[in-house]
This record gives sequence, C-alpha cells and structure tokens, in this order.
Amino acid sequence: MDFEFNEEQVALRDMVRRFTEKEVAPYYTQWDREKKYPKHINKKIGELGLIGMTVPPEKGGMGAPYVTEGMVCEEVSRGDCSITMSTFVVGHLDAEILAQGNETLRKDFLQPFLAGDKIPAFAITEPGSGTDAVAMKATAIKKGAKYILNGEKAGITAMMDADFAVVFAKSDPAAAGAKGVSCFVVPTDYPGVTLQSYEDMGVRSVARGSIFMEDVEIPDYYLIGKEGRGFAMGMEGFDISRILLALEAIAPAMVSLEETIEYAKQRNTFGRPIATFEGVSFPIVEHISILEAVRLLCYKGLWMRDQGKSSTKIAGMVKWMAPRFSTNAIRDCLVMHGHPGYTNEFPFEQRLRDVLAIEIADGTSQVSKLVALRELFGREYLPYTYRNK
Ligand SMILES: Cc1cc2nc3c(=O)[nH]c(=O)nc-3n(C[C@H](O)[C@H](O)[C@H](O)COP(=O)(O)OP(=O)(O)OC[C@H]3O[C@@H](n4cnc5c(N)ncnc54)[C@H](O)[C@@H]3O)c2cc1C
Repeated sequence: MDFEFNEEQVALRDMVRRFTEKEVAPYYTQWDREKKYPKHINKKIGELGLIGMTVPPEKGGMGAPYVTEGMVCEEVSRGDCSITMSTFVVGHLDAEILAQGNETLRKDFLQPFLAGDKIPAFAITEPGSGTDAVAMKATAIKKGAKYILNGEKAGITAMMDADFAVVFAKSDPAAAGAKGVSCFVVPTDYPGVTLQSYEDMGVRSVARGSIFMEDVEIPDYYLIGKEGRGFAMGMEGFDISRILLALEAIAPAMVSLEETIEYAKQRNTFGRPIATFEGVSFPIVEHISILEAVRLLCYKGLWMRDQGKSSTKIAGMVKWMAPRFSTNAIRDCLVMHGHPGYTNEFPFEQRLRDVLAIEIADGTSQVSKLVALRELFGREYLPYTYRNK
C-alpha cells in the first residue's frame, strides 16, 4: 500500500496550490457576490491542461489517472468550492461523454471546452424528474438528417453561462426505462433554446438555470455515441463525479479547520488561548479525524477506477458522508470564530451555503445511500424495484 502521491503528482499539486492561492482564493467571495462566472479563470485552468484531464490523449486529453484529477479538484476547491462544481465535476462528466462522440463533436465542442474556451452544461434533471431521472419527458425525434428536441431541463449548473449543453432526451419514447434515452449536444444559441436563471443560496458564481427546448433542430451527428446508450453513459460518469464532489466538499472544511486552529491559538478568553479548552479543541480533532477518513476513501475509490475496478459503492458512500460531515465541521468553525464568524467578513457562511449544495447535486444523500445499498444488498432490494409489483 502506498498513501503518497508520486513525484509528478506532488509537483502538479504544488503548482495548482500556488495558482489557487494567487488567482482563485482571493476572489472566492467577490465572485459569489457578483454571481458571475469567472470565465478567465476557467480559461487559465484550461490552459494549464487541467480540464477533463482523464480524456485519453488520442481523443485530445492528457490521459491522467482519476487520482490526479481528484487531487487537482481538491486543491482548487480549497480556494473556491463553487467554480469546481462546473470546471471539474460537470467538466468530468461532459469530457468523458464527449470523448465517446464523433470527430466533429470532439473538434467543435470537446477541444474548445478542454482548452477553457467553451463552457459546457450537463442537463439530465427535469422539473418532474430528478432522482428518478429515467422518468424524463424531453424528446429527441429523428427527422431525416436532424433530431428535433422538445422539453425542459431544470437545475443545471452553469446553465446561464454555458455555450452548449450535453442533453439527455428520449429518442425512443416508447422504449422502456433507460433504453430509449440518448445523449445530444445542444448549443445554447440555437433557435428554440431559451434559458432561465435561479436565485440560489450558494454556488452562485456558476449560476444554475433551466434550458427550454422548443422544436430545436440539431444535426443528427450531434448525437453522442449510440442511440439508447445515453443513460448508461451518464451513470458511468457519476461513479467518478460523485467522488470529485465529495473532495470538493471536504477541501473547504479542511481549510476552515486549519484556519480555526490558528484562530484558537491567538484568541484569548479567561486569560488563555481558546485552543486550550477541550470544548474547542476536541471538536476540531473529531472533525479532522472523520474528514481525513472520508478523504482517504475518496482516493481509494479513484484509485480503484484507475485499476479498472468499480468505484460505484465508494462513490455512493462518500457522496453522502462528505457534504454532511463537512457542513458539520464548517458550522463549528463559524461558531468558534464568535460573532465575527457569523458575518460575511469570514468565508464560513459562504462555504456552508456552497457545501450544502453538494448534498443535492449529482443525486441527493438519500440516492447516494441507495447506490451503496444496491452494491451491498443487491439490486432486488432497491425500493424502486418494487414499484410495479
Ligand atoms: C447545486 C445543484 C447543482 C445541480 N446541477 C445539476 C446539473 O448540472 N445537471 C442536472 O441535470 N441536474 C443538476 N442538479 C439537480 C440535481 O441532480 C437534482 O436536484 C437531484 O437529482 C434531486 O432531484 P430533485 O431535485 O428532482 O428531487 P426529487 O427527486 O424530487 O427528490 C425529492 C426528495 O425525495 C428524496 N427521494 C426521492 N426518491 C427517493 C428514494 N427512492 N428514497 C429516498 N429518498 C428519495 C430525495 O433524496 C429528495 O430529498 C443540481 C442540483 C443542485 C442543488
């Protein structure tokens, strides 16, 4: 067993840490208040070759291990756990799906997005179907050399800034369940596409939105992969993206705990540093113990995928644990800073808002437990397998 990153990874991590400390962390609060996607930072991250790192070189990527992608996501999340939801989590999902697309899709969409020139969205959720995504209503009907898309996708990260969306729709509405679902590229400036933004409590710099499609005509070569394979492609991506989200949650909690240790050493009450009171120091030790364990589980999951093994069970486990335990930790850090901790002069309230989003994005904590349950108990014990009985 080896718990160290290799030399190359350490050098990359140090470079990303310097970049984050200089170019990302100082603007975390500003981008949230402005509710503005820092496209120039996305561009820089693209120039550094850090977007969609796991895409194989023959498809235009770096072919990096999943562990390396997780490490980079964690580092940037230490400075800003909001933009990483778009750049690395949506970035991972879309990159791996687009890499399965034809040459035109790779040239016109994957390449500019890996370079940080185009912002993508990942659109599967609908107003009437989130957890039960298979129940989607959006359709993509083939007509000659075109597909005609109709429907609405809701709650989509970075939708308001996206140049295109990877959209899941039923190309065969009569087919049962996931079998009729296919995956398409829909440019957001096509006729028939309209967008609508939300007022979210957190993750505001990558504003979520809905995409409405009304008789949107796309060329048939904007179909990604094979017809009917769309749902499977999406689910394969979740086995990694959920681990990336877990690391995205843990990073700001760890930074908050590091900051709180320093604060507790210099803040005095009753003539001594608050760090000397077990009521302050023990919770910090407990949070770090739990988060370090979950963090290691994240890297084990990524490592397993690098070895060609399934990461499904671990993805389900860390996806519910990480945001829950990170939220607990950040909340305690806020309180340990006393009344100033409750103001927006400190980043704790923002981190709380941002990390809470991770409990829902990419599947809620409940659904993450269902994913782990399926692996531990067997598919026949899933509650929804009983719905037609
Ligand atoms: C910050 C953020 C970013 C997001 N980004 C994207 C994105 O980029 N693309 C995208 O497509 N979607 C995105 N989403 C949407 C997200 O994937 C869905 O919100 C999520 O899957 C839940 O679906 P829902 O909101 O429809 O809740 P529902 O499915 O209606 O569930 C409602 C509640 O019931 C619970 N529940 C449902 N079924 C079960 C069950 N069988 N057992 C136990 N509990 C159950 C759920 O856990 C939830 O608490 C995002 C959401 C957020 C908050």
